[in-house]
Amino acid sequence: MNISNKIKNLWNAVSDVFFPLKCEGCDGFVESVGLCTECWNKIMWISDPKCSICGNPFELDIAEICGSCALQKPFFDKAVSVFHYDDYSKGMILRFKHMDSIYLCPQFARWMYRVGEKYVKEADLIIPVPIHFRKLLKRKYNQSELLAREIALLGGASYEPRILQKSKRTPQQEGLTRKRRQQNVIGSFGVAKDYVHLLAQKKVVLVDDVYTTGATVNECSRVLKKHGAAAVTVVTLAKVVLYWNR
Ligand SMILES: [Zn+2]
Ligand SMILES: [Zn+2]
Repeated sequence: MNISNKIKNLWNAVSDVFFPLKCEGCDGFVESVGLCTECWNKIMWISDPKCSICGNPFELDIAEICGSCALQKPFFDKAVSVFHYDDYSKGMILRFKHMDSIYLCPQFARWMYRVGEKYVKEADLIIPVPIHFRKLLKRKYNQSELLAREIALLGGASYEPRILQKSKRTPQQEGLTRKRRQQNVIGSFGVAKDYVHLLAQKKVVLVDDVYTTGATVNECSRVLKKHGAAAVTVVTLAKVVLYWNR
């Protein structure tokens, strides 16, 4: 063993003692980057059968699309999500959003890439759902931008955060009804004039952290299509799941 390997091994041993790896879901210690077994088991992964448009899982394989999409077809063509948005995943996402747990990003992005791989590979542009610049100043980073950039890297696709802009501040969406959320976001996104030419006939993957009612991603998709996008696929980390056939 040469000197540099010895130093490396020594450093690894020292860092294991002083900076042990923590589970991304809880604060328990893990041997390698990722989740501990307990946290892994707590995640409600989204699987088939599900709505072929919004990706809402069905308990029974009885329909192609869900009641919501049947009632009003969204502006996006398809949405896929990694896991259910529940009390458990909420904690994980909040840490990523507000507590500067940026180290969670690569793992989240890998999961999102896995469910959206087909669309990312076909996409001309990977676009994050933007936040208003005042919010950005307060929060320091936009978690959707971090995810979108990482997903674009994984798929060798083009990351484009400048096209879509949050032009109007909207009140906090949390706790609002589906209808109020929809009304709230209408007209709050715009396309930057200097970049609008990039959208013509392009296939877009729109990235956000959570799909709640779909109001935000739907409004973004409407604006993107209005300015020429040919197709929009939404990829989110978590989704609030509706139980239609209960
Ligand atoms: Zn854990
Ligand atoms: Zn649906």
